[in-house]
Amino acid sequence: MQRFAVLQLTGCAGCEVSLLNAEEWVDQHELVYMPLVTSAYSIPEVDLLLVTGSVQTDEDLYKLRRAVRRAKKVVAVGTCAISGGVLNLGDRDEIRELFFAEESRYHLPKLLPRCRPIDTVVSVDQYLPGCPPTPELFMALLFDPPDFKIAQTVCEECDRKKHKKMRPAHLIGFQHGTVLPDICLINQGYLCIGVSTRGGCRALCTRAGQPCVGCRGASNAFIEKGSKKWFATIQRIFSKMTDIPAHEIEAALRSPQLSLFLSQFSDYASKEPQPRLKAKVL
Ligand code: SF4
Ligand code: SF4
Repeated sequence: MQRFAVLQLTGCAGCEVSLLNAEEWVDQHELVYMPLVTSAYSIPEVDLLLVTGSVQTDEDLYKLRRAVRRAKKVVAVGTCAISGGVLNLGDRDEIRELFFAEESRYHLPKLLPRCRPIDTVVSVDQYLPGCPPTPELFMALLFDPPDFKIAQTVCEECDRKKHKKMRPAHLIGFQHGTVLPDICLINQGYLCIGVSTRGGCRALCTRAGQPCVGCRGASNAFIEKGSKKWFATIQRIFSKMTDIPAHEIEAALRSPQLSLFLSQFSDYASKEPQPRLKAKVL
């Protein structure tokens, strides 16, 4: 029986909820530490340490460094642990000023100068991307079934069909318009980037009519080439399938919502981007 722990750094707990929805592991794995789920106060020796959230406070830094010493294998779970995720937005000066404006916040853990992915602090053995990763992906991580294979792209898992003659002239925007069933969202004017996003989520969003924002990160074809190549490929696909001006696509790709995910496999804060190895990514 594998002993595992879940260390939650600064984050939203969405990854934890997804793990708890994958309840089949309960009989075959021993969860020894997870705040609000187990009664343990500290992390004992474990086979597997799942880390969610990003390193944003001095307390995160302390807890992470301490926990990895007791783990045989460390997994960065979800966009925040992999790239900082949505917490990167908190690095903006106006957000920091707002935060520190309240005297009641003076005694909270000290914010670091910027939010950091966990592999800038400790070595990571595996990455489990997703925002959050689906329960099925957690199961694949815990059980490592030999026949489990990730689809190359979200498109491969999406039932929507692409149409050559349906060429929108502009983007519609995420929450606008009426989504037609069965037809590719790009043909309908939505910025769907499932074409080059790694599969494995079973196209959860696009099947329900929501464009893919790339929360699983770049597919293996781009993962080690950095986000610029991924970005350029998305542009190329849109110019092939639509009449939407390139500047419109570029502006949308640079929106906070999408740029969080487009950059998640390369350390965009450093001068020399450091792509993660695809062999380590589930
Ligand atoms: S809707 Fe998105 S994921 Fe589905 S086929 Fe079109 S581009 Fe691919
Ligand atoms: S469809 Fe895209 S955004 Fe939705 S879960 Fe899959 S990878 Fe993430």
